Amino acid sequence: MKILITGAAGFIGFHLSKLLLDKGDEIFGVDSVNGYYSTQIKQDRLEILKPYQNFSFAGVNICNRTDVEALFASNSFDLVIHLAAQPGVRYSLDAPHKYAESNLIGFMNILEATRQQQIKKLIFASSSSVYGNRTDGAFSESCNTDHPESLYAATKKANEVMAYSYAQQFGIQTIGLRFFSVYGPWGRPDMAYFNFTKKILKGEPIPVFNQGEMVRDFTYVDDITAGVNQLIENIDHLDNYKIYNLGNHQPVKIMDFIKSLETAIGRKAKIDYLPMQAGDVVFTCADISAAQKDFGYSPRIGIQEGLNQFSRWYKHYFLEYNVKSSN
Ligand code: NAD
Repeated sequence: MKILITGAAGFIGFHLSKLLLDKGDEIFGVDSVNGYYSTQIKQDRLEILKPYQNFSFAGVNICNRTDVEALFASNSFDLVIHLAAQPGVRYSLDAPHKYAESNLIGFMNILEATRQQQIKKLIFASSSSVYGNRTDGAFSESCNTDHPESLYAATKKANEVMAYSYAQQFGIQTIGLRFFSVYGPWGRPDMAYFNFTKKILKGEPIPVFNQGEMVRDFTYVDDITAGVNQLIENIDHLDNYKIYNLGNHQPVKIMDFIKSLETAIGRKAKIDYLPMQAGDVVFTCADISAAQKDFGYSPRIGIQEGLNQFSRWYKHYFLEYNVKSSN
């Protein structure tokens, strides 16, 4: 299969590309390698992918319609996996237009190019944030998602309904994946666990919001990529339009998460308790029964094991190789 992966220099895009390259698929990666966080880490991820014979890469900004159309016209992709986006809940309060550009215009360009080139299948990243602020048990795909707390979440919800219309009108199979707090080696420096690690190692206090009264369904990145791989292998038997949660189904209290991180790093954290942040939610938990039933999704990595892996990579990357900035 020749697969286009947008956001290939990103955290999940890098891991997914690597898994599929190891499997023997032909991967065409695209990324603008923007400066939302360290471009060094994005370049270093690409350096790992570039030696693969079955990997090609183009620096394309998906907001540029002409470039996206040219990319699709000069390749025949069997499947599009669209991960490129402006992520981050909190940053959407400061830079809303970046979300409108990459997540709405960029998404539109990918949808339309997929239609024009008659590509039959599109998998795209949505987010657990579409569920908004709810605490009434595991989030099922059938829950109402009309009340996102942030513009980031609103753009992800918009992607889901845009994809629905393309599935209905043009028969493109569109599958949206709601990822739940993905973490692991080569992770995103803007995410809390990454910042916690940096500060704990420096002996600085870590900011803990809502006085530590937060619960998150953290999902190890290898579980996510294994899930996407299982989805690809079973995609011919799935509905023409579908949304799936990909989470761990093991929500963790943030203070327990910090204890596990302390164990992984081998140092105690100093804690700076702060109020709840705008746009954030207090609880996430994925009901993963649909993905389990339809393509055998089965997350395996518990939080301590996952954080041990992350900490090992972090120390190796930042301390032994002395990479200067992490964001
Ligand atoms: P990431 O920021 O590491 O990767 C996204 C990549 O997309 C980056 O390398 C960035 O340079 C690229 N990109 C952004 N705008 C672009 C544009 N206009 N043109 C081309 N490339 C562009 O993020 P990630 O954590 O790997 O997330 C991948 C996807 O999963 C995103 O759609 C994100 O919203 C979604 N998601 C992630 C999480 C998580 O916990 N990591 C949770 C829910 C959803």
